[in-house]
Amino acid sequence: MEIRTRFAPSPTGFMHVGGVRTALFNYLIAKKNKGTFILRIEDTDQKRYTEGALEVIYKTLKDLGLFWDEGPDIGGEYGPYVQSERKSNYLEYAKKLVNEGKAYYCFCSNERLEDLREKYEKNNMTFVYDGICRGIEKEELEKRIENGEPYVIRFKTPKLGTTVYEDEVYGKIIVKNSELEDLILVKSDGMPTYNFANVIDDHEMGITHIARGNEYISSTPKYKLIYEALGWETPKFIHLPIIKKNQFTNKKLSKRDSDATVEDLNNSGYLNEAILNMLALTGWSPGGEKEIFSLQEMVEAFSIEGISSGNAIFDTTKLNWMNGIYIRKEDIEYITDLSIPFIINAGFITEVDATERREWLKRVINAVRGNLEYLAQITGHINIFFGDTVEPEDDESKEILAGEQVPEVLKAFKTKLEQIEEINEDFVKGVFKEIQKETGIKGKNLYMPIRVAITGQAHGPEMNEILYILGRDLMLTRLGKMGR
Ligand code: GLU
Repeated sequence: MEIRTRFAPSPTGFMHVGGVRTALFNYLIAKKNKGTFILRIEDTDQKRYTEGALEVIYKTLKDLGLFWDEGPDIGGEYGPYVQSERKSNYLEYAKKLVNEGKAYYCFCSNERLEDLREKYEKNNMTFVYDGICRGIEKEELEKRIENGEPYVIRFKTPKLGTTVYEDEVYGKIIVKNSELEDLILVKSDGMPTYNFANVIDDHEMGITHIARGNEYISSTPKYKLIYEALGWETPKFIHLPIIKKNQFTNKKLSKRDSDATVEDLNNSGYLNEAILNMLALTGWSPGGEKEIFSLQEMVEAFSIEGISSGNAIFDTTKLNWMNGIYIRKEDIEYITDLSIPFIINAGFITEVDATERREWLKRVINAVRGNLEYLAQITGHINIFFGDTVEPEDDESKEILAGEQVPEVLKAFKTKLEQIEEINEDFVKGVFKEIQKETGIKGKNLYMPIRVAITGQAHGPEMNEILYILGRDLMLTRLGKMGR
């Protein structure tokens, strides 16, 4: 049997990391089984629709490499893939259920429902619609519809018995039918509810596995009843644990968290590769020591059995660690592209510099990337490469410059610089040995004063790289301004 999964976001305008994890797990289940991954847009709640929201979904998934095999933009055998374009379809199924006595028209006004809800709540009971419209006679019904009275279509949930389904992650879920309400299938505007539309679409699109957030666990028995009423087989349900922000607070990562969308994370300089890797491990355990996975490696290692119902922690400390690994390991051209906006924003360079001095920038970025956990931090590391003057930044560096042999070392270094036109390999390879030979000064006493004099810092990137990046003229300028 072909495995078919779907990611079914509502177009809300942003992609919460929880949504991305759902997309990723559906993608992995499909790809692991050489199956099909579908993108479906659930826009039946038009109030929540925001302009440009589709583009956010497309862009985020594409940037992350989660390409879909069927979807609104590329079509497929089971289209359309946008729910608002499938409206008439849902209505037909709802009417079929009404005709078979499995659903009914409900004319209850909002006021009546509100009163009812209040009554239940006063008695500390969970509100369940009382089903009064179940009993409307055919004649009255026709008259009320004819008179244009607004109605919804509700599912006739059995009052007796239990509904059971086997969740792939949470195990057996059992509910008493008496606790389930008569679900609204079609709203008064003719639009289906999410509850109804997801069942119809999942069936019609041949979905075999549904992975989604565990907030849907308690609704799934209701969906199961609809599948049964329509005589359909239920797909496999894989509910995913809620993502927590960290293990200490137990706080749920919510849409209001500033780092909860992929865009927010990108804006701080988290790489998509790291975000995806981290999300894979948020609810899924590959078993074993390996933690760094490319998307392809995730596909190979993935199994539904590895998903656990607990422990889905999106831990910033771990994300930082993981992101640092990707910053060091990804291609330097890519890291340069991603770093440039931060460097421009901090005022170190202009847009023009970013193009004209790209080769130089690449070297700068490469020299410091080993220190970064996220790219926004880069501006705190590259300042040594900008500006004509440097000051020793702390007591340690001041002390180094106060050393007895410093004037001699710096003078020798300056002379060497003056003898060349620009930094080249011979110079870099030979300069320290030569100064050592000429002055007899070696090791720390030789390197440290030069490092501090040209960068202001006692620690930093590799010395040879610093020579290349700063270049002859700037080093001479800095030494001169320091009165050396
Ligand atoms: N449209 C739903 C949401 O965005 C999808 C739920 C599901 O996957 O069934 O939460």
